Amino acid sequence: MAPSPVDDPGNVKVVVRCRAFLKREKEKGTQCLIRMDPATQKTTLLAPAESDHPNSRSKVYEDKEFTFDKSFWSHDLDDPQYAHQEDVYRSFGEEFLDHNFDGYHTCIFAYGQTGSGKSYTMMGTPEQPGLIPRTCEELFERIQQEPSPNTNYHVLVSYFEVYNEHVRDLLQPRTNPPIYLKIRESQVEGVYVQNLTEAPVRNYADVERLMKVGDMSRTTAATKMNDTSSRSHAVFTIRLKQITHSLLSDETIERTARMRLVDLAGSERAKSTEATGARLKEGGQINKSLTTLGRVIAALADPKRANKNRRTRDVVPYRDSVLTWLLKDSLGGNSKTAMVACVAPADYEETLSTLRYADQAK
Ligand code: ADP
Repeated sequence: MAPSPVDDPGNVKVVVRCRAFLKREKEKGTQCLIRMDPATQKTTLLAPAESDHPNSRSKVYEDKEFTFDKSFWSHDLDDPQYAHQEDVYRSFGEEFLDHNFDGYHTCIFAYGQTGSGKSYTMMGTPEQPGLIPRTCEELFERIQQEPSPNTNYHVLVSYFEVYNEHVRDLLQPRTNPPIYLKIRESQVEGVYVQNLTEAPVRNYADVERLMKVGDMSRTTAATKMNDTSSRSHAVFTIRLKQITHSLLSDETIERTARMRLVDLAGSERAKSTEATGARLKEGGQINKSLTTLGRVIAALADPKRANKNRRTRDVVPYRDSVLTWLLKDSLGGNSKTAMVACVAPADYEETLSTLRYADQAK
């Protein structure tokens, strides 16, 4: 039997990735505030030069050091340490797929401020595909290699977003007003979204088509409603069903594993202090999902705490936000979770807050 996270604290992996300077940052001659040491996986956030302190009288700026499972330096393309999309995928993508084929759930999510490289890491570009396309592509490669000849494989894809604690199907056309789906719970299914499209897919091209449909839906919203995409959490789910017929015992065994790939809302939205009215409510709701997710991961990652709660597992606060409630089966138990903390190279305050968030999840 696979170990539970109580026995195996290694079920939560936390990595950090620093993106490259954008053209406008380069043009301004922006100072890079991140150092990464590949030998120790140490990430250092450097205090900005005094002239760059946005609020120098009230804030203390000092160098801060963090250590994560892995530090991906995707900043300077000419650097031999540059971590390509492939490197990020190889660091846990393969291991997570093995886990799925063994019948367990996995969850990978990208956390960070808007513009820090979350979508680049999760979805990527046609030339530089990210974790989601790579995972799907390898999934079908493995199926085509027929790892188990008496097994039938069924793959289903869903794509939804959580916005203001509401769930919207990204594989259905946008409506005005939007249709929000209900969350239900059953003994068989666990927690699930009622009436969510689950599209059967036969190959990677099918998945690609659906990714495009979902991304269009998110992008349309972004232009119409003032950048909704950075304010919503997008959850891409692949369900792998394996039906094996054992010739020896004449038994049929069905195993289902879910892969959750989550592009979170921009973490800067978690601070609602400057917002008013509807924005305040929205900031609060995003704050709720992100802070609850942080608390859930921290509870799962800390074996001491997990041991303390051994008899009262429900202390892990899944129910406190829609996102964590829906991800419950992919975060605890025998699931494996990875968090990619994405950081921009020159934003002290946002980066510090992201690194602190990631640090509590270790
Ligand atoms: P987010 O999803 O966090 O808002 P994006 O993924 O859209 O951020 O990234 C912002 C910009 O930075 C995009 O233009 C993207 O192509 C670029 N970018 C992000 N990460 C990298 C990277 N590792 N290497 C090169 N460019 C990157």
